[in-house]
Amino acid sequence: MSSDDPTTDSFESARARYLEERTKRLRADGLQQYQELVGDFADLDRDPFADPDHSREPVTRDTDVVVVGAGFAGMLTSVRLLDRGVDDFVVIDKAGDFGGTWYWNRYPGCMCDVESYTYLPLLEETGYMPTMKYASAPEIFAYCQQIGERFGLYDHALFQTEIDETVWDDDSGRWVVTTNRGDVLRARFLVTAGGILSKAKLPGIPGIDTFAGRAFHTSRWNYDVTGGGPTEPMDRLGDLRVGIIGTGATAVQAVPKLADAAAEVYVFQRTPSAVGPRNNGPTDEAWFRSLQPGWQSERIRNFTEAVTGKHPEVDLVADGWTEVMWDDTQTAGRTPEDAERLERSDFETMEALRRRVDEIVEDPETAERLKPWYGKHCKRVCFHDDYLPAFNRPNVHLVDTEGRGVERVTPTGVVVDGVEYPVDVLVFASGFEVTTDLTHRLGFDPVGRGGVRMSERWHDGAHTLHGVLTADFPNLCMISIVQAGFGTNFLHFLSESAAHVAWIISTCLDSDIRTIEATPEAEEEWHTTLLRTAGLIANYSLSCTPGYYNSEQGNNPNARRNLTYTGSLVDYVGIIRTWREDGEFRGAALDR
Ligand code: NDP
Repeated sequence: MSSDDPTTDSFESARARYLEERTKRLRADGLQQYQELVGDFADLDRDPFADPDHSREPVTRDTDVVVVGAGFAGMLTSVRLLDRGVDDFVVIDKAGDFGGTWYWNRYPGCMCDVESYTYLPLLEETGYMPTMKYASAPEIFAYCQQIGERFGLYDHALFQTEIDETVWDDDSGRWVVTTNRGDVLRARFLVTAGGILSKAKLPGIPGIDTFAGRAFHTSRWNYDVTGGGPTEPMDRLGDLRVGIIGTGATAVQAVPKLADAAAEVYVFQRTPSAVGPRNNGPTDEAWFRSLQPGWQSERIRNFTEAVTGKHPEVDLVADGWTEVMWDDTQTAGRTPEDAERLERSDFETMEALRRRVDEIVEDPETAERLKPWYGKHCKRVCFHDDYLPAFNRPNVHLVDTEGRGVERVTPTGVVVDGVEYPVDVLVFASGFEVTTDLTHRLGFDPVGRGGVRMSERWHDGAHTLHGVLTADFPNLCMISIVQAGFGTNFLHFLSESAAHVAWIISTCLDSDIRTIEATPEAEEEWHTTLLRTAGLIANYSLSCTPGYYNSEQGNNPNARRNLTYTGSLVDYVGIIRTWREDGEFRGAALDR
């Protein structure tokens, strides 16, 4: 029965549509639908940016800390260790430079859609002024190198180096770290500072290995094929047909550039992204120079409050993110009326994003297919001004798979609904492993006390205190989202985690604490906190279309433990700060 209020009608029909779209996408194989870039696909994982002739003498020595990962987490941990007087450490990364995500992701159009003044680390320390409100990937990558130079981090770095093993030696109280370049480092502490969005994945589409044209993943963009570079237009695609599989945050940025360069672009869509306006612009230098000391941490915190329903008095960033995420609509309402209010607020936000598609995309059928039918917390919202308009170009074709995904790949093209779309180049914008076991993503499996591997102790999923310390792996500090915080501005999480880890290490070194690890009891207590927090959003999460936020709604037996702290990042930061201020190492076992 229809009500007198048309918004109520559309609200109720949206509810039904959300459920229908979710149901369409549920699949029994969950996370197993993806495959790794190994075996036949190993070449797709090759680093196209590294120096193939790089060689150096192996390093054999004792050190205080080995940090694995030279992205933001590794760089920030290094800087905070230096701040605390710990200067004997080594940073290892398989990449050829600092940057992490920004080293690997050099695809055309790559940017950060989180405001640069809150996302770029250490702006007050370096005095660097981002050129734009949203910085491009080349600018962020160059800034990572500046940080490396400014803090002397290159002297600590071993690049193009992969970990073979990390083994705890109880007698010496050290981690023995060996690498594929013959290094043997004996470290008091081991920090794993990577493995979050670093392991690219491919969809397990039948025939994917038969494609005879050129194919690559967005995080290993092959400019030999496309011509151009991260700051230069692609000049080899003029006669070529390009297919791109995936329409997440990466594709949203890459598609407009492909549209500019290729003869034809086929965008294979399983689930549309919600795309709000970006409104980028140059930094107002006078404003930037007027910012007072302490401004960056205040702005970072204010942004996180604004996007996690904490309603700060002033919205300092005031952009699409803070507008869309202002109300936390995923935490269960306290009363049925409250729950309905939240659901309506979520619906209205998404309805505005759906209206934006109609306003921009000229062909009504294409516009209909580009509309996201799920709640705003279900998938990462995107912000871009050129993605939707790209579908008005005659050379850009949306191939909607109706939630089923690509049917098949042939030597010459991509098949959807029995129709083959011939392509010369195939781009996989298919994302990264996020909720698989940590050891799977790290690329090595630490061996703890008594020769027990982390994958063995964590056979049922993660066991940690705050996501940082774990029992039987003394002096191991982890920075990852597993059982830890998570947030829209990832820099906020990483910088707080780096400060936490540097505090643990320097305090232990200064206080002659030989080893530190979590107690199993504290791990269980922390797990209870995680479950309780996750319980508050469980109904919302269950109602979502599958994606990496909810482990593809699959039956992953370890998901119950491999969860993140789903409350506000501000609260997670409060928990770890209070733990440090308390100074009692509550929940940790110490050997003095
Ligand atoms: P995502 O995991 O977000 O997207 C993968 C895409 O591949 C989805 O659209 C998915 O569809 C699609 N897909 C998977 N399997 C198939 C299939 N069989 N057939 C067709 N399509 C398929 O990866 P991204 O690289 O886009 O983004 C990953 C994360 O990186 C983001 O969520 C964000 O955190 C970060 N990022 C941040 C940016 C920023 O500006 N700050 C920019 C880019 C990335 P479906 O949705 O149905 O699963």
